[in-house]
Amino acid sequence: MSFTHAHQAAMAQQRNRGRCLHHDNGARCDAIISAHSIQKGGQLNLIAEQGHVYRLTADLTTLRSTGGKVQLKKAGINKVSTFRGMCKDHDNKLFAPIDDSPLKFDHEQIALYAYRSICREYFVKENAARSLEAMINHPDVPQASRQLLLDSTQGQNSGFQHLQRHKLIYDAALSEQSFADFRFLVFWSSSPCAIQASGLLFPDYDFLGRQLQDLGPETEALDLLTFFTAPTDHGWAYVLAWHQSSDQTCQWVRDSLQEGICQGRKLEDMLLRLSLACENHAIRISWWDKLTPSAQHAGLTALSVGTDPNVGIPSDYLASGCEGLADWIFDSVQDGAGN
Ligand SMILES: [Zn+2]
Repeated sequence: MSFTHAHQAAMAQQRNRGRCLHHDNGARCDAIISAHSIQKGGQLNLIAEQGHVYRLTADLTTLRSTGGKVQLKKAGINKVSTFRGMCKDHDNKLFAPIDDSPLKFDHEQIALYAYRSICREYFVKENAARSLEAMINHPDVPQASRQLLLDSTQGQNSGFQHLQRHKLIYDAALSEQSFADFRFLVFWSSSPCAIQASGLLFPDYDFLGRQLQDLGPETEALDLLTFFTAPTDHGWAYVLAWHQSSDQTCQWVRDSLQEGICQGRKLEDMLLRLSLACENHAIRISWWDKLTPSAQHAGLTALSVGTDPNVGIPSDYLASGCEGLADWIFDSVQDGAGN
């Protein structure tokens, strides 16, 4: 088996290795399901055209075949954003308040959306770490690739350890129903929606390009921000949410958004950049196809942030780029971030 095929096989094996990431998981979690991290009914259907959306393809194998360039690929919504990270019983019970009801200004709903994005990322990061480890010792790995794999593994493991810490914080908050510990900003919209997303990041730079946290290996604890779109009674919403333990950095992010608006930056542009920088998203096909080539180029640049471990993150990736591309408009904002 060639190196590339072996890597694909290792990734697929991890993807299919279902397990329940519910905070109360145990021996009874046997029926693992393939669940959508971006809801199919309320979210993907809102932007799907003939049952399809665009999504990013940026795995190691694809990147190698395209010379390191990320691409958008058409995908059926049944397969987009799914992960085998929870058993049927836990998934149904835990997420009923968000799967069965549109988003309101509700701490529990926000906590559940944030938790789902953490569980999905945890599943993906753990898979990546395990398949990279399996590949390093593969006999056909060329020496040059081995070093790349070693570097990637180091980065993956460090990111995964940070994520594990936050997963435990969220596990405890959810199991104790401490929903008031979650802070958030909700941007309500009744306009068309070009992107659905469910992601998270350890904020490194704010919306003005100022450094917030050093993501280097020496930093012991990193604050975590989640963000996601959600269906509402009158359209949809874009939400930034975090646990209070990440208040310090996330409040800076929030303040920089406000400062950016005061300086004349558009909220729609800033949230578009954030959405494109997260790889768990779905894009409306007709919106993307109607963009001019230079706009698409700007979009692909934003999409490629963080996909290549050899290319550093530009400090202004949330501060500039993609101006005027978004066709969404936000009607109002509600702040659940006060102490
Ligand atoms: Zn379970």
